[in-house]
Formats: sequence, C-alpha cells, structure tokens
Amino acid sequence: SSEKVFIGVDFGTSGCRAACLDSNASLLAESSVAYGDASGPECWREALCKVVKELPRRESAAAICIDGTSATALLCSSADGHVLEGPLMYNFSCSAAAVQRCRAILPNPDHTAAASSSTLCKAWEWILQGKAGPGKRLVHQADWLTAQLLGTDVPSPGTDYHNALKLGYDVESLQWPDWLKRSEVAPLLPEKVLSPGETVGYIGAGPASWLGLPESCRVAAGTTDSIAAFLAAGTSQVGEAVTSLGSTLAIKMRSLVRVEDSSFGVYSHRLGGDPLQWLVGGASNTGGVVLRKVFTDKALKHLSAEIDAEADSGLDYYPLPCKGQRFPISDDNLEPRLEPRPESDAQFLHGILEGMARIEAASFQKLEELGAGRLRRVVTAGGGAKNPTWCRIRQRLIGVPVESAEWTEAACGAALLAMKGVSLLGALADQK
Ligand code: ADP
Repeated sequence: SSEKVFIGVDFGTSGCRAACLDSNASLLAESSVAYGDASGPECWREALCKVVKELPRRESAAAICIDGTSATALLCSSADGHVLEGPLMYNFSCSAAAVQRCRAILPNPDHTAAASSSTLCKAWEWILQGKAGPGKRLVHQADWLTAQLLGTDVPSPGTDYHNALKLGYDVESLQWPDWLKRSEVAPLLPEKVLSPGETVGYIGAGPASWLGLPESCRVAAGTTDSIAAFLAAGTSQVGEAVTSLGSTLAIKMRSLVRVEDSSFGVYSHRLGGDPLQWLVGGASNTGGVVLRKVFTDKALKHLSAEIDAEADSGLDYYPLPCKGQRFPISDDNLEPRLEPRPESDAQFLHGILEGMARIEAASFQKLEELGAGRLRRVVTAGGGAKNPTWCRIRQRLIGVPVESAEWTEAACGAALLAMKGVSLLGALADQK
C-alpha cells in the first residue's frame, strides 16, 4: 500500500532501535540492534542502516526523526562535517581542569551545564587538549545522525533545544547566552538550534539509496533519548506526568512553570506549545534496584498477585539501595529502612512497594511545592509498569489516575515526533 509511514530511530544507552508508525499512529514494526563499547559514529551509521532496512513499507516513509543520548558529542569539521574527535559519551566524566573551566564561565554554580559529564565540559575538554580551533564544531550524536540523513554535501542542520540544554543554551530566550558567546567555547557552538520535530530538510539522494527511503521523506530535528521515551508514553496536558520505574525512580511532569532546584537535582526541559509547556524532572535513588536485590522478577510477579493493593501493609519502609537520597529529600546520610522484615515474603514486598509509592507521591508533592503545579494523571514506564498491583497501590497513595504507558520505547516517541512535529510538545492555543 502507498499509505504513508513515519519512522523514529532511538540511539539509547545500550543499542539502537527503530519504530515505524502508520498515519493513524499505530505501531507497524520495530527493529533493534545492540552496539558494544566500541560505539562510535561508524557503528552508529551501520546501526541506523540496519534498523531502518528491517522496517516494512519504509519506501513510503513521509518523515523520520532520530534521538540520541544526551551529552554524547563529537568534534567535527564545520566545512564538511568530517569527524575529528570523539565521541565523548553521555556518561564520560571530564577532567577536573575541564570541569573547573566550565564552571568558571557559568552565571551560577547550579547551572545544568555544571555537571562533569555536561556537553559544555566536553567542549572545554577539547579546548584544553588543544583540539578545538577555527573551523571546528561540537556536534551531538543526534545532530550527526540527522546530518547523515540529509547527506554530507549539505550544510550542518545544527541541533535542537533539548540536546543544546547541557551545552548552556538559553532555552527561555532561545539563544546562546552572552556569557557563552564571550567564552572560548563560542566558535564550537552549533550555528542553528531548532525546535525538536521541526523540519530540517529532506533525505539526500545518497542516504535515500543506502536506507531505502524515498527522497520525499522529511527529516525532523531530533531530541534526547529520555525525552523521546517521555513522548512515547503518551501525555499531552499540563499536569500529566510519566514515572519511569526502572532501576531508579524518575518522574517527568508537564508544567507551565520552569522549575529548577539543583539541591534536589530538579531541572526543566523546554517542551513547546502556546502557552509554553515545560518538562520538569527529578530522580530518586529508590527503584527496581532495591527489588532486584531481594526478589527475582519471577518472584515479584507471583508475590505481587498475592497482595491486596487496597489494604495498608502496616509497614513503614524507606527503600533505598544504600545510604543517601537526592529527591524528594536531599540527604546524603539518609539510611534505607527495610525493617522489621515480616515472615511473609508477599507482605515484605507489599511494604517495599508501598514505601516506593510513598516516595513517588512525595516527589510529586515536592514538584508542586517547587511551583510545577498540580498533578492530574500519571503514566508509567519501565520494568515496574507491568505490575498492576503496584499501579493500584500507587494510585491509592498518589491520589490521581495511574496508568501504563501506551509505548515505552523511545523510538516510538521519535516516530511520533516525526509524524506530529512540534505539536507533540504542547498544544497550540486556538487561533481566533
Ligand atoms: P533499567 O532500564 O532502568 O535498568 P527496566 O526498566 O528494565 O530498568 O526495569 C528493571 C527493573 O524492573 C528491575 O529493577 C526489576 O526489579 C523491576 N521489575 C521487573 N519486573 C517487575 C515487576 N513485576 N514488578 C515490579 N518491578 C519489576
């Protein structure tokens, strides 16, 4: 059939995955490939080719969008896009000297770019190694891959404001701030910063042939892997949130207010829409890692089925894998509390799930206190999302509807962004 399809490709922490949606936003197909430690641009391009070529009906693709891990960066020639240095991966911790130079130019020590793995620190790493210089530019993983779609004979598409946040971009006024433009980093900054999902161009002739995509396929500006995962979960309204119950517990909520509090590790990404929506996020040290220490996934499943989710366990646990919490309480000395342990494993699990649900509820309360507004609905992603007992416990303790995410693969979020463009980020006010 010639009906249009939409492709998203996610470059996450452990591999690459593609998703293909039809024009009703139904998932037609997915494909994936793992990549190892030797991951670099050539690996990425190979992975891109492999996952896209496995998608059915790709010859009818109307649009494609790629997300990458945040703060994974390359140093490229600005003339022809040739890779000169890197990648410095998302979790690469920069040298003390680079971190110090980075922090010295920041307007405040709490800035998102102050982290030792930030893209801005990586820029300084190259500067201090004498590798930066005229004619060189910092390129995020998603930017580089997006450029591969356009073909190498066209000017760099630039970056998007999700990837640009950790490089110091001012997402409020949508420009590079003066303190950054005055610094030695200035020549390395991407020239253009687009809105995620905005049209960058069309597939070039070369890439069209090696990917099997039509030249009429639109290329949409990308985003980061965690925002793509948020978009996959399916929210649209202010007050809607996504909780990721993986190894740790992370929450992200749509808000009209940009909330930042570095003491709790809370910061906001710009979404979009009119009125402008922000994505306020925070991450707790509690999460599935605590469960995995005690129970196998199989045991979790059958013990959960024995729990009465509407009843209170009577236990007052504070589940943490080790001492120290960041959010919703910031206390390096906070001790885990998992005692007394009852005879029954099901009751023990009941207490742990409740303890984590209370931490989640307190997290949303904290976001509200910090100004993010009222929580209305929670959508759940990650390994814990498949536990209906836990969902009911969470709904009871959080006090709003708690549901499972429609999709949990970031690739689906990227595909939706390819399909819906900037309107996926936030609704536009009705035109009068
Ligand atoms: P990550 O990608 O962060 O490592 P996942 O999203 O894959 O994590 O989720 C894995 C976590 O989910 C594990 O820590 C595991 O304990 C937890 N988990 C797996 N099955 C269940 C279940 N049925 N109920 C609750 N938690 C579960």
